[in-house]
Amino acid sequence: MIYKSVTLKRGKEESLQRLHPWVFSGAIAAADDTIEEGDLVTVYAHDGTLIGNGHSQIGSIAVRMLTFDDTAIDEAFFEQRLNDAYKMRLSLGLQREDNNAFRLVHGEGDFLPGLVVDVYGPTAVMQAHSPGMHFARNIIAKGLTQLPGIRNVYYKSETTLPYKAHLDPVNDYIIGGMETDEALENGLRFHVDWLKGQKTGFFVDQRENRRLLEQYSKGRKVLNMFCYTGGFSVYALRGGAELVHSVDSSAKAVRLTDDNVALNFAPEDGRHQSFAEDAFKFLDNMEKDAYDLIILDPPAFAKHKSALRNALVGYRRLNAKALEKIAPGSILFTFSCSQAVNKDQFRLAVFSAAAQTRRKVRILHQLTQPADHPINIYHPEGEYLKGLVLYVE
Ligand code: SAH
Repeated sequence: MIYKSVTLKRGKEESLQRLHPWVFSGAIAAADDTIEEGDLVTVYAHDGTLIGNGHSQIGSIAVRMLTFDDTAIDEAFFEQRLNDAYKMRLSLGLQREDNNAFRLVHGEGDFLPGLVVDVYGPTAVMQAHSPGMHFARNIIAKGLTQLPGIRNVYYKSETTLPYKAHLDPVNDYIIGGMETDEALENGLRFHVDWLKGQKTGFFVDQRENRRLLEQYSKGRKVLNMFCYTGGFSVYALRGGAELVHSVDSSAKAVRLTDDNVALNFAPEDGRHQSFAEDAFKFLDNMEKDAYDLIILDPPAFAKHKSALRNALVGYRRLNAKALEKIAPGSILFTFSCSQAVNKDQFRLAVFSAAAQTRRKVRILHQLTQPADHPINIYHPEGEYLKGLVLYVE
């Protein structure tokens, strides 16, 4: 199948020959002048060799590659890629009686750049990050409902599509409707608000790290900072924490956390309390030694490379505040989900924070994103979640 064509400058085919899926606008020598945002294009090397097909886009990434041959991008193509993604999740054992929340499509990590799909029981929540995926949304939704157990597809791209593309996407069900807003993660129940919540409504990427936290929670006084839907809080309670305090600057997040605690624990339990407050303020005002297990899982401090320096200062300040006041013999779970900050830079920021407090700090675990957020080996940019578990004396 031949689409509108894009021809690269000499030598600019090299990264694509190594299967990296992005064509930057500066690499293009010539392109059909009829190409519009989201069109399917065929990319050629300078000498006319066909490289593959992809979605065009206006911006620094000009084409996101979907194939590295001449395979047509049609219904059968999407069915195949979605099936492959599903098969991989099945082998990870994520669709079980006690677990039905997982990421089914992780963009480049599933060879579908520009597309994210999270599954919550019978509902798939789909986000397009590229105009091409927006235009393909109906066949993708159809392909999703052909997978076992998925009956509803909610499309949520109002905030993920480039606004300059003027696509005016509407958040709504493409197939089905509201069946249940409850999802199961490792036997714990969560309300997921894909209609109004952040991203697809829940952060499935912390599933394994929450489970690890559970194992450290027994008898501890836990502070879950940046709690959002209270994922870490609920695991800490199940793990036998003495008390759990959840903090988020958003009153709505605090309500979601309270609801999820109530969904899993009896009203008379009484170990949990939540606070709608700014993290930095809360840490400034908290008493020394009040907690012996702290989780810091802030939003991405650097959304772009340009914000890197400020982000690193932010991570250092945040971690220093926690390290100054955490009780001796404590555990600190600290994360960064900024893609622009790499593992070493994050570790250096935490190191600087530790050095500032001069406490004895050891690294127990180095955490990352779970297997349902795979990293395409040819696209290292897909690695974004980093975490450290520290033992602080
Ligand atoms: N730990 C969560 C995800 C955190 S998302 C989970 O496991 O699901 C980041 C959260 O930080 C959001 O809920 C956001 O409301 C909150 N947040 C952002 N800035 C904040 C601040 N300055 N103080 C406290 N919370 C903040």
